[in-house]
Amino acid sequence: MILILKPSIDTEAAEYKQLVSYLSALQNIELRIHQEQGVERTLTEIHLIGNTAALSLEDMKNLTGVEYVVRVSEEYRVLGRHKADNRPSYFDYQGLRFGQDTLHVFAGLCAVDSPESVEMMMKALRDNGQVCTRMGAYKPRTSAYSFQGYGKSCLPYVFELAGKYGIKVIAMEVTHESHVDEINEALKITGNPTGVMLQIGTRNTQNFELLKSVGRPQEFPVLLKRGFGITLDESLHAAEYLASEGNQKVIFGLRGMKTNVGDPHRNFVDFAHVSVVKRLTRMPVCIDPSHSVGLRSRGVEGILDVMHVTAQGVVAGANMILVDFHPAPEKAIVDGPQALLLSELPHFLEDVQITREGYEKRKALAERIFAEN
Ligand code: PEP
Ligand code: MN
Repeated sequence: MILILKPSIDTEAAEYKQLVSYLSALQNIELRIHQEQGVERTLTEIHLIGNTAALSLEDMKNLTGVEYVVRVSEEYRVLGRHKADNRPSYFDYQGLRFGQDTLHVFAGLCAVDSPESVEMMMKALRDNGQVCTRMGAYKPRTSAYSFQGYGKSCLPYVFELAGKYGIKVIAMEVTHESHVDEINEALKITGNPTGVMLQIGTRNTQNFELLKSVGRPQEFPVLLKRGFGITLDESLHAAEYLASEGNQKVIFGLRGMKTNVGDPHRNFVDFAHVSVVKRLTRMPVCIDPSHSVGLRSRGVEGILDVMHVTAQGVVAGANMILVDFHPAPEKAIVDGPQALLLSELPHFLEDVQITREGYEKRKALAERIFAEN
């Protein structure tokens, strides 16, 4: 059960202290308090865990300081959508809104390989009106002998260049909790020129200790990729590890499933799950067409497969696109074969816009037909 408190309730006030002490005295109930700092207000939620079936919804609603109460099902307690649940399906970060109604493109390098590539990428983004990017500094690789990313040594120039070109958010994978400290440290020494969205990759979707440690600090949003060989339900449960530690700024990423059924693509594209995730949870949904397709193949009409599958996700209402670009894909150290060229960025963005308009029209049509019936 979740008690959503009145907006901007003062946690120093007697009213709040009384409420907490009353709830703490309930038998077989554990309390977890979550505070979400929004632009307009601070949202305080008290999560009651344990034998909540014994509690009356009416009694809880009538407690001083409580705005409304949501009785959660067992599924996806914090991030899920529950009956009579009007908690927000968005969060704000770096002046940008990330929600189930918005769309952001995170085009960038799979792996940072030199200051020159980073600068060329950032400049192309700025010239095309973009304020978000992806940059891999810590790369989880199949072989222990492959390049593992430049790690913390590249962070200062990546962040400084982001600031120089007006990039507000960088999606960056972390594979160990120490990476979050390194990112924090590098942001601090460079004067916080940009923001970071921590990414948990498909190989770590069920690394529960990593999820817990990344869920604890709440300043960074987290992009959690679905596991490539587990069910959607298992990946959504994994997202709860972040939220149950306090971080509700979570975006769920679809990146294709590992199976030969998807050949010749690198993974079997799973963007049919965009609307499923939005229905089951309050998380914005990201698609990663690059890791799904894995190559630069092109349809007979000339459209790249990466763009075709992007369109499939966007026309279904995706909220974020994580896509690999590189100034010289043949020289990229990681995932060159799936990278698009900087000269293809305007084409990609226009294609996304056309498809997003298609989604908006489909949504308006469905709303009209629903209202008429
Ligand atoms: C990535 O986005 O760089 C990445 C490694 O993705 P995934 O975890 O989906 O393989
Ligand atoms: Mn990659």
